[in-house]
Amino acid sequence: MEKLIDQAKSKLRANHLRWTKQREMMLRLVSEDPEHYQDITVVDNALRDAYPGLSHDTIYRNLKEFERLELVELRQHNDQMQVKYRCDSAHHHHFICEICGRVQEIKMPPLDMAYYEQQLPGAKITGHTFELRGICAECRAKHLK
Ligand SMILES: [Zn+2]
Ligand SMILES: [Zn+2]
Ligand SMILES: [Zn+2]
Repeated sequence: MEKLIDQAKSKLRANHLRWTKQREMMLRLVSEDPEHYQDITVVDNALRDAYPGLSHDTIYRNLKEFERLELVELRQHNDQMQVKYRCDSAHHHHFICEICGRVQEIKMPPLDMAYYEQQLPGAKITGHTFELRGICAECRAKHLK
């Protein structure tokens, strides 16, 4: 975990962002469990308990900034924004266990955007989401017993 925090610190500095107590706390909360998404309200509540002056907006803006710096991954789930510390691989997607919520990385070859854009004349693709769901090996083993 200290390694993740050190990485985050140097990345912020390299991008001319100040290393503040608030940002550190945010990243610590997120890096506690790099294998699960957390609702951002959990992070939000913890931060605003510790720093009552902080607004939702500031917290959200920081998380978006961390996403841009590839420190965290954000995801929309049942009307909730969720956050997780970013996996190591560059282009990857997730397999998420429907029982325990564990996130496992899946490597993917680069997508051929030109191929998709041919089907959308005049459009420009700016991003994509792809997620696999299922039951992880541990949960399967438990339920088979
Ligand atoms: Zn990931
Ligand atoms: Zn992809
Ligand atoms: Zn599971």
